[in-house]
Amino acid sequence: MSASHENHHPATLSGEITMDTGVIINKCYQCGKCSAGCPVATEMDYPPSLVMRMLQTDDPSHYDKLLKSMSIWLCVSCEMCLTRCPMEIDIPVLMDYMRQKSYKAKKTNPQAKKIISFHKSFLDSINYTGRLYEMGLIVDYKMRTGAMTQDVAVAPKMFIKGKLNPVPELIKGRKKVAAIFNRIQNNNKEGKQ
Ligand code: SF4
Ligand code: SF4
Repeated sequence: MSASHENHHPATLSGEITMDTGVIINKCYQCGKCSAGCPVATEMDYPPSLVMRMLQTDDPSHYDKLLKSMSIWLCVSCEMCLTRCPMEIDIPVLMDYMRQKSYKAKKTNPQAKKIISFHKSFLDSINYTGRLYEMGLIVDYKMRTGAMTQDVAVAPKMFIKGKLNPVPELIKGRKKVAAIFNRIQNNNKEGKQ
């Protein structure tokens, strides 16, 4: 094999996405079943089938619009689109990929700030306890968003019903979980260099 083949880099945006995610963009034939089944499609600026079409065009301006869109942050990874798609196209993986690209390129939609804060609080909670610690997640999220007093009246009821634990449960394997987080953070740093 020649050196040029070994260093092969896709010439198109869709080719690059396929290389990074394994999802073949051009398999989509625009049947629209993903958008019809998506629970948040009506809230999105670009519903899933349109996201697919925009990626198929290989137009950098479309790609840029998606990086700045709310669609990628509103996707809840429910996989309804994947279940319905006749071509088994993994849109949730694409949405996750676009979120990462958007965040790294500092192009996140300003309206997605609270969703991003929730993502960070969720991951920090798992990093610390090895599992989701709801109380820590809520406090952390509220500190990040500045919404400290919002919903505060429902907390006592949730304590009484045992839905909120004031003390985190720490799992035995949390060193392994911390190692996973460290590895991802190091990979991200190397990727930036
Ligand atoms: S995974 Fe995302 S895009 Fe697909 S149906 Fe669910 S919310 Fe919609
Ligand atoms: S369901 Fe699949 S083939 Fe149909 S528009 Fe959506 S991604 Fe494309």
